[in-house]
Amino acid sequence: MTDTAASVRLPATALDGSADLGTAVEAARRSGSRVLPELLAKHLLRERGVPTPRGTAVVSPEEGRTAVGWLTAPYVLKVISPTVVHKSDLGGVRVGLADADEVAGEITAMEQRLQEAGHDVDGFLIEELAPAGQEIVVGAVREPGLGFVLMLGLGGVFVEVLRDVTFRLCPITRGDVVEMLGELRGRSLLDGVRGAPAADVDALVDVVVAIGGADGLLANLPPDVVEVDLNPVIVAPRGAAVVDARLVISRDPAPEAAVHRAPEPTDFCALLTPKTVAVVGASARGTTPANLYIRNLRAFGYHGDIYPVHPTADLIEGLPASRSLGETPTPVDYAYVAVAAASVPGTLAAADGRVRFAQVISSGFGETPEGADLERQLVAAAEQAGVRLLGPNCLGTHSPHGRVTFVDRSPSEPGSVGVISQSGGLSVDILRLGQERGLRFSGVVSLGNGADVSPAELLTHFLDDPATGVVALYLESLAEGRRVLDVLRSRPVDKPVVLLAGGRTASGARAALSHTGALAGNHLLWPALARQAGLVLVDTLSQLVDALLAFQQEALGTRSTGTDVVLFGNGGGTSVLATDALERVGLQVPNLPEETVAALRALGLPPGTSLVNPLDAPAWTLAVDDGQVAERILSAVLDTSSPAAVISHLNVGIIMSNTATAESDVMAGLIDSIARARDRSRHQSHHLLVLRSDGNPAVERHVQAYRERALQSGLPVFGELVDAASAAAALLLHERVQARRAQR
Ligand code: ADP
Ligand code: MG
Repeated sequence: MTDTAASVRLPATALDGSADLGTAVEAARRSGSRVLPELLAKHLLRERGVPTPRGTAVVSPEEGRTAVGWLTAPYVLKVISPTVVHKSDLGGVRVGLADADEVAGEITAMEQRLQEAGHDVDGFLIEELAPAGQEIVVGAVREPGLGFVLMLGLGGVFVEVLRDVTFRLCPITRGDVVEMLGELRGRSLLDGVRGAPAADVDALVDVVVAIGGADGLLANLPPDVVEVDLNPVIVAPRGAAVVDARLVISRDPAPEAAVHRAPEPTDFCALLTPKTVAVVGASARGTTPANLYIRNLRAFGYHGDIYPVHPTADLIEGLPASRSLGETPTPVDYAYVAVAAASVPGTLAAADGRVRFAQVISSGFGETPEGADLERQLVAAAEQAGVRLLGPNCLGTHSPHGRVTFVDRSPSEPGSVGVISQSGGLSVDILRLGQERGLRFSGVVSLGNGADVSPAELLTHFLDDPATGVVALYLESLAEGRRVLDVLRSRPVDKPVVLLAGGRTASGARAALSHTGALAGNHLLWPALARQAGLVLVDTLSQLVDALLAFQQEALGTRSTGTDVVLFGNGGGTSVLATDALERVGLQVPNLPEETVAALRALGLPPGTSLVNPLDAPAWTLAVDDGQVAERILSAVLDTSSPAAVISHLNVGIIMSNTATAESDVMAGLIDSIARARDRSRHQSHHLLVLRSDGNPAVERHVQAYRERALQSGLPVFGELVDAASAAAALLLHERVQARRAQR
């Protein structure tokens, strides 16, 4: 042993790759390190059938010489050090050493270099050189409430620079891995570019499933391990091997996993069609939100019993009041509770088995750190009293069928859209904007903090509810998203579920000890979750409402796995921009078949009408036969081809001023004839209508009236082509998801 090597100290866990994981975690914690020995990580991988290079740990040049005796050249030398995280950044990796002399020499040199730079050197790892190939990164981070999230991407030392990575929640399947690979910009590198041989993708898929699959490495790691970085996994023309493995443990020992009380399956009918409603918080003299609630309820035509609850008053809003939820004339289906936070637990405790659902509007609970304790008391009181709790910190429940609502001037016609919102304010926005754009609701429930009833539970209700055809979710918590994913995976689903997610910024990513931890931001996790759950993810409130409208109006099937769109309407530049917008959401405006062009030519349309897709028809063409020409044009297209969707767009101001002298209402004629063409091909292609305004108040009023007319005939109507493009993308995405589900 040389003098320098005498200073090397190698902990038992680093030497012995087969050391017990628990012992290794303890040893790391004692030494203040958060990274487990590479050799141990590789041992765990081999136990799961994942190939790693053969290797061993040594502490001196002499041991290095001996070790190479049972390894095959060339060799790789790596430092084992608690202070060196990214080894190659500090010269702690030498690749391609030819023989024992080179290994021994490099051990001496590397040790001296690193110690001079102030690093602790515990020893060295000598391993065989893996066959050359494409470097891939496979990683995972444990997220609270989510479990492990797996990352796959282009690997090597530039992972954070390239950021060509994609995520899935564990466990993952082979199908997930294939999909993930397809999402990488650099996917073609695996197929072999510029003369490089193709990589063994099957072997890579095997490795990823062995890591993140149902019984993979991740599923078997103790809770202390919070980050995993396998970078790189080298995928050769034959086989794949993990050549660097880092397991990172949490700063503090993992707490005992909280036992989640899985709620009994709940029948939410009493929530959405309550026979009795109690209102806590209305005043005998003033006007509180609870007074307004009673007035809205009556204005909305609620015909069950309303029981105001008040400690002293006898009459509230002209109704006899009860002293507590325990003293109402009959048991209560639904209680609306809007009193000071501190008195809410006591209010619910008094219910004592006589209230099925209580929606707590009051804030001052878990949404702030100071209220966390009170929220725990509230949940305990509700559980004790046998009440299912909605909220706290929410706004209410709207159900046209049950004639209950929490907003004034709310849409009373029952419909097929079910809405679950983690935000109260946003549920009102969805109601209001949705009403304007033609949505009709089967139910809207705001859950606020969601201390008891979860979005996932209500999702189950809406999926089972025959009146509901499409479900909207507004979520702010990935953990709730995980529960939604679990629901959607555990049962057959045919209804579309549209997700608007708040908190989609990169801020979820943290200063981490792994590449994966540094890259796993919420902006990447939400799309991963949506993809796995088969959710339609939208970016804005407006897109949410438009997607819901498309699903409400359109018959759904699994027919269209295509992405072809035919555009028809007036405005050349508008069509060009629309083509771009469609491309951005993954749809195309392809050339029409010869047969279609011939059929269009045979119509003898006025000059200036294009016979190619997009079908530009100037206002004078649209005026032919008082607008009936639209049916002939669309039928010519639909009789000879099957696009996934047809988007018709009408510039209302232009058409109206061009046809001002016409005897009949050309706009109405156009809408009716588009609707007839739609009726003939309803199960073949989707039909969307854009009614464009120029902002002039008079034109706006006309647009609103024509929009009503089009909605009546069943067409989904949008304000601009970009809106129709994203709604069409939503429809077609859902049908692709359905086709995928049908295959399983
Ligand atoms: P770092 O801590 O810097 O990530 P690695 O163990 O990943 O260190 O080694 C750095 C690089 O060296 C890897 O990205 C890979 O290209 C190469 N390498 C490491 N080990 C091997 C091996 N056994 N066979 C082939 N190449 C290797
Ligand atoms: Mg590495």
